[in-house]
Amino acid sequence: MDILPGASLQEAVLSRALSLGADLAGICRVEDLRRSPSHRAEEEKHPFHWPREARTVIVTAVSHPEDKPEMDWWLLRSGKGNTPGNEILIRIVSRLSQWLSHDLGYACFPIPYHIERGGYYMKDAAVLAGLGCIGRNNLLVTPRYGPRVRLRLLLTSADLPPTEGSSFDPCSRCSMPCRKACPRQAFPGSPSRERAGYERILCDRRMKEDEASAEEILLEGQAARRVIYCRRCELSCPVGKEGPG
Ligand code: SF4
Ligand code: SF4
Repeated sequence: MDILPGASLQEAVLSRALSLGADLAGICRVEDLRRSPSHRAEEEKHPFHWPREARTVIVTAVSHPEDKPEMDWWLLRSGKGNTPGNEILIRIVSRLSQWLSHDLGYACFPIPYHIERGGYYMKDAAVLAGLGCIGRNNLLVTPRYGPRVRLRLLLTSADLPPTEGSSFDPCSRCSMPCRKACPRQAFPGSPSRERAGYERILCDRRMKEDEASAEEILLEGQAARRVIYCRRCELSCPVGKEGPG
């Protein structure tokens, strides 16, 4: 049921995402995301499930400033738990999905965070949607918040025009404090323009150690694990440090 032409619906979707609490929102096409370098490289060993009806990827982001470490703490109330930061994104995407499907009649497909649980490469989607670029720290770097953002995707059958790509490239004139800050030397050598040069396994090990050393606390009356993740490659990036302008 098309009740708005594509361009107006695009505007309505973006403004709805922002009013629901997203700090950034953008749109890319499913076919473009499927052709992105990460998906093409992984497709053979890890076949992704792309819903047949899905045409558009809506990318939502919330900022995760340094003074809100609790966004990363694990609330333990159910199953494996979740982080408050992720819960904010899940809530935004779920309300956006309800509006698109119940009010406008489009099919929606919320996408899990982890690739191994059916997720997609969110950073590729964010770049295609014009939210920022992949920095030399291998993270999405946005003009307003630098790399200090968390992402979530929603696929929909609504056929929306993509938001504009971006030529944002802060790394080309930067001395790369992000790469020097890594305590695990996960960024070996000099990055080429195309590849950041990043040893994920070294970072994964550090994350597991951070999780293992977390203490159990009460967060807003709920049991939580206070995980202090290493974010040095994120927090040392000067982009967006002055806050949204
Ligand atoms: S610190 Fe510099 S090189 Fe690293 S991501 Fe930020 S802008 Fe790019
Ligand atoms: S999170 Fe920490 S260990 Fe991982 S790449 Fe960044 S600085 Fe290195």
